[in-house]
Amino acid sequence: MSEAVQAKIIDGKAVAADLRAKIARAVTELKTGHGLTPGLAVVLVGHDPASEVYVRLKGVQTVEVGMNSYEYKMPEDTSEADLLARVRELNADPAVNGILVQFPVPSQISQQAVIDTISPDKDVDGLHPVSAGRLASGLPGMVSCTPLGCLILAKSAESLLPGGTLAGANAVVIGRSNLVGKPVAQLLLAENCTVTIAHSRSRDLAGICRQADLLVAAVGRPGMVRGDWIKPGAVVIDVGINRVDAPEKGEGQTRLVGDVAFDEAKKVAGAITPVPGGVGPMTIACLLRNTLVAACRQQGLALPEEMQGLS
Ligand code: NDP
Repeated sequence: MSEAVQAKIIDGKAVAADLRAKIARAVTELKTGHGLTPGLAVVLVGHDPASEVYVRLKGVQTVEVGMNSYEYKMPEDTSEADLLARVRELNADPAVNGILVQFPVPSQISQQAVIDTISPDKDVDGLHPVSAGRLASGLPGMVSCTPLGCLILAKSAESLLPGGTLAGANAVVIGRSNLVGKPVAQLLLAENCTVTIAHSRSRDLAGICRQADLLVAAVGRPGMVRGDWIKPGAVVIDVGINRVDAPEKGEGQTRLVGDVAFDEAKKVAGAITPVPGGVGPMTIACLLRNTLVAACRQQGLALPEEMQGLS
């Protein structure tokens, strides 16, 4: 008897590496053709260990694609006024094309005040209300990085969807945060999917998910989406990053899992992103892509050809 068909595993690391290689070629083109080196400024307030790792990785990958990386570390007790003043300086600095303030910020600082202060033209995190409004209105703007990564991964498995295209596909997005759920839904709508946004108050979540040709889970609940919630052959994008105990690795050890019960889902889905190694690696690659786009727009330059059509 033949083995059960297993889903194609969508390799986010490989797709992200390919995107970074394209960005690096585009940066070279901008340097040689226009004397322009895009610059990304990242501001970190305090000493959150996960944020420190993430900021370091961003800096390394920014330099690897040939861009300038500017890192600003500010103490834990930085006031909101001081952080906003730094953001305004960066808004005015012509060498800086993109600004990212690493979240979470300490509790004395309003995250929304930070988001609102970043110039929409340099908003490479895509969180400013102007960026969200442009996305909802179908206008060019900055698209937040993780949602853009989800779209690129969904497109990489598009041939498995009914008719081989996102257009007309039933897409279900679980989660409605401004960071992930809502912008993913907008991007899929722009691709002509029929989009349902589910959330904690949705009735019969499993039944809604079973209708999905494309299922995006952005919830933050380990393994919530079970194998029998998935339509056979569906494309599944798992955004969740959850740390759970892993006694099998030894006492006190942990591991990362997604919002989808991966071992069950891979027996039903047509394609699925793993955690780790799926959506996660796409986020920084999309941040670099946004910085390149921002630099071109600020200089009135067309986006290098290879970078067009990514969203
Ligand atoms: P939020 O906590 O902001 O949003 C979670 C969403 O899930 C909410 O809309 C909530 O609904 C919904 N939800 C919660 N419980 C349920 C449930 N039982 N049934 C249905 N819906 C539910 O999280 P984020 O959007 O910021 O992040 C989601 C996940 O993605 C997290 O695991 C996070 O770590 C991960 N993430 C990964 C990134 C990456 O680079 N790969 C980047 C960003 C996030 P309601 O609105 O009704 O409360």
